[in-house]
Amino acid sequence: MAETFVPDPSERINKRLPMPYAAQFPDIIKRNYGKWVDRKFHGNGIIEHISESGESIFTVKVGLPPNSRISVDTLKKIIDVADSYGLKVVRATRGMNVEFITDSLDKAKKIVDVMKGYGFPAGGWENSLWHITSCTAYLTCSTFAVDAPSITKALYDYFMPYFTGEEKLPSKLDIFVSGCTNICAGTLAGDIVVVGHWGQAPKPDPEKIKFCLPTSAEALKKVTPDVAAVCPVNAIKLYAKEDGSVGIEVDDKRCIACGRCKNVCDYFDWDPDKIGVGVFVGGKTSNTGSGPRLAYRIVPWVPLNPPEYREVVAVVRKIVDVWKKNAEPGERIGDTIDRIGLEEFMRQVGVPKSRHNACIEVSWNFGVRQFIKYV
Ligand code: SF4
Ligand code: SF4
Repeated sequence: MAETFVPDPSERINKRLPMPYAAQFPDIIKRNYGKWVDRKFHGNGIIEHISESGESIFTVKVGLPPNSRISVDTLKKIIDVADSYGLKVVRATRGMNVEFITDSLDKAKKIVDVMKGYGFPAGGWENSLWHITSCTAYLTCSTFAVDAPSITKALYDYFMPYFTGEEKLPSKLDIFVSGCTNICAGTLAGDIVVVGHWGQAPKPDPEKIKFCLPTSAEALKKVTPDVAAVCPVNAIKLYAKEDGSVGIEVDDKRCIACGRCKNVCDYFDWDPDKIGVGVFVGGKTSNTGSGPRLAYRIVPWVPLNPPEYREVVAVVRKIVDVWKKNAEPGERIGDTIDRIGLEEFMRQVGVPKSRHNACIEVSWNFGVRQFIKYV
């Protein structure tokens, strides 16, 4: 029988990061590395990890502002809390929360209280809202269609009791908010995914743009203007007109409204009233239940009314209500949709089915299930 390989974290050589990652482990983690055998939820964002040695550590998950942007002052407070009550380490999570680790339930509760005092709630375990992950959009990005962090804030304001655990959900809930169809918030495989889009193909302004185009059909053969070159789906067509000048048009059927042309050309017009978000439901990356899958687009367009974004919040709230009403215990939204049927789910949400929200179900049949077949 082959000898079992037991990794020694201190021997791992990481050539990319500036230091061996194991150097930052607290002693209790080094002692119990790979020996965790159980876990226990204590509410309030606290989870206990129990080792076969009998030792325990406690993780406290705390929500951060949208896109996890925090000031140096806040960072100092977090460091102070980790230093005073924790094991002097923190972890930034994939869901844009921060996790403290400590070695007693009392200290974990203290971390919850102190962070709450600073305005940062703890939560996000078990059957609750685990996170609302937001891309940067207005904060730093140049291709946004909508202000994803502000929409995230509006959603968090309403759904906070689901994060803290005051209100229970049938299962875990992940929400992602992206400012445009590039979907940098992480995935289209979330329980609920809100995606900003322009809601239209752009319209070139022929009078202004003509000064930037090649001056003749001959010149057009030698150069492709940037505005056409950036289009990922070749929707921007340049053509020679009868009078020898060059024309430009956008093929509405090809355009995916990504907004890249907007980055390089000011002479493309966009109607601001058509900008909105689409809402996708029922995806997940986990291999539990029915396995990983992309979400269904069930609401193609929701208008934007900052700062409360009431329409967006109302749609997400309705989806959660329908899920709560129909779900069996432990069932993620996608599995509830599978059981009752997509059309029935949409009927209860109150969205008529149309060609705009035709199912974009993608067979995403990989993960462990895929590999098991070949073992
Ligand atoms: S999803 Fe769009 S708006 Fe958000 S960061 Fe990515 S490119 Fe920018
Ligand atoms: S919005 Fe995107 S897809 Fe549409 S024309 Fe511009 S670059 Fe092309």
